[in-house]
Amino acid sequence: MNLCDIKTVRQIMAMFHLTFHKEFGQNFLTDRLVVEDIADECCTDEQSTILEIGPGIGTLTYELALRRRQVVSLEIDRGLIPVLQYTLGEFDNVRVINEDVMKTDLDALLAPYFAEGPVSVCANLPYYITTPILMKLLESRLPFDYITIMIQAEVADRLCAKAGSKDYGAITAVLAYYGQAEKLFTVPADRFVPAPKVNSSVIRIKLHKEKPYVPRDEAMLFRTIKAAFGQRRKTLVNALGAGFPELSREQITEAITACGHEANIRGEKLDIAQFTALSDVLLEHLKA
Ligand code: SAM
Repeated sequence: MNLCDIKTVRQIMAMFHLTFHKEFGQNFLTDRLVVEDIADECCTDEQSTILEIGPGIGTLTYELALRRRQVVSLEIDRGLIPVLQYTLGEFDNVRVINEDVMKTDLDALLAPYFAEGPVSVCANLPYYITTPILMKLLESRLPFDYITIMIQAEVADRLCAKAGSKDYGAITAVLAYYGQAEKLFTVPADRFVPAPKVNSSVIRIKLHKEKPYVPRDEAMLFRTIKAAFGQRRKTLVNALGAGFPELSREQITEAITACGHEANIRGEKLDIAQFTALSDVLLEHLKA
């Protein structure tokens, strides 16, 4: 059975009396090379357990099951569960769970797998909910090795942007705190059925085992980043002024220059190391 063949995908959907659910972001991959590449590139250790979000009809799951120790797949659409039993029936290293990832207790689900060895995430994510899923994975603080995801190309550019570039934003800086993101490749919209409106890219995030930059107060770091990008066209001093009404303009300017920046620098110039240092100095001023 060739799950990358558009005709086969349509036949399987018809066989189980299913239609593609747009509200679940159901755009199934139909390019074998892309599917194989994602399964090959998603992590370095063959003995890894893979958490997959949204297996669809099992196209990527199949290739992951061939290459990795075990696969745990969360699928929200109950209608796809019998399909997955059919397409993945030959594997005894795949566990399919009919659940919404946003409601799943990932700690409880994955604890036994982490006890056995490395765990990574690999998914062609539903685009309507990409950022909340990514933030849930990062904020879970589970020690994943890698998170490899197919997402909208534009979002991928934002997540992998360099400080100072036009795509760089708060989410880029926050992601850099948790790990190092790299874009692997771009996939045209016509490699999916049904075809989405935009191209997609695959990114791989290598999570920091030990964070290279540790703020004195994590909440303060996130508040600093949020404030810095809250007023994008403004200088950092003005943006932070709006985000930290408790601090005077002089205190904010002093904090910025104490970190070695020009007083009129813009927030989008700062990388995660610089945001971490700045948040520590701002914290001092808040405590003073
Ligand atoms: N992995 C398949 C592929 O590459 O062809 C399907 C990918 S499709 C873009 C996204 C999948 O995620 C769909 O199967 C959809 O039903 C599922 N999904 C959507 N929202 C979900 C959620 N909150 N939790 C779990 N699965 C979800």
